[in-house]
Amino acid sequence: MSFSTHVKNEILSCEITDECCLHAFAYGMLLFSRAFSFFDVSLLTEQEAIAEKYEQILKSVCKVSPEVNKSDAGKIKVEVVTAADREKVMDTFGYDKKSKISRLNWSNFAGECCKQAFLKGAFLTCGTVNDPNKGYHLEFVVPYLNLSKDLKLFITDYDELDITPKSVVRNSNYVVYFKDSEAIEDLLTVMGAYNSSLELMGVKMYKDMRNNVNRKLNFENANLDKTIDASSRQINAIEHIKNTVGLSYLSGDLEELARIRLENPDMSLRELGDALTAPISRSGVNHRLKKICTIAEEIK
Ligand SMILES: [Zn+2]
Repeated sequence: MSFSTHVKNEILSCEITDECCLHAFAYGMLLFSRAFSFFDVSLLTEQEAIAEKYEQILKSVCKVSPEVNKSDAGKIKVEVVTAADREKVMDTFGYDKKSKISRLNWSNFAGECCKQAFLKGAFLTCGTVNDPNKGYHLEFVVPYLNLSKDLKLFITDYDELDITPKSVVRNSNYVVYFKDSEAIEDLLTVMGAYNSSLELMGVKMYKDMRNNVNRKLNFENANLDKTIDASSRQINAIEHIKNTVGLSYLSGDLEELARIRLENPDMSLRELGDALTAPISRSGVNHRLKKICTIAEEIK
């Protein structure tokens, strides 16, 4: 099951009981479905539960009985077939033959409570959300420019959401979308898809953690490379001294360090310092190794 279907099932699973909210929910679902006009009120979906919900709200909220047909390809079409019934539907949401059908009728929201329900309905019929493992993206696909602008305004104006959608035209549809994981989390939560929202947060946390670990590993590897590089330069210098003038050419403390370094190419500066008869600090070791390298240069 896709993440989108999962989200939609979760939205469908919470029952809306307040009459005002049920009205707004029905409005969201109908307005953003395949068609919503005096000539055509219909839904096309592959998800049986959505077809059932659409049919149910037409019956309970608009008091009309739609026709349901399933194609061989698995597409379910729910359609209000008579002009009289379509008029009833349009009338339920305050549209007469003179009103602009492709605009949002704000009088369908009795209160703030209804906005959440409206968004749920809209997402069920025109929304999709990507599996967070494949990237963050949630969108509403709207067939009319003005309606997409109204939806953007609705979301931007919605007090419980502090998010701003982006929009793009795709295949002559107007897509209102979000790419920000936090905005998507908030939307899912507002629409009552709590488990899906938690799932998204979990994926994000895992990704962030993995990125941090990788960053740290890269950093450590780079440091290790630097250490190995320095160590082999020091060993070359020490071997040069050994093969030309002999290690006894060095003063006592330098000679001891040179011998330890030669035998322990993997030792860090701190470990070298601790290995000396009279232990010294990391920077002390660094200073002495530099001296050894300078002496080797001079002999060349
Ligand atoms: Zn309400």
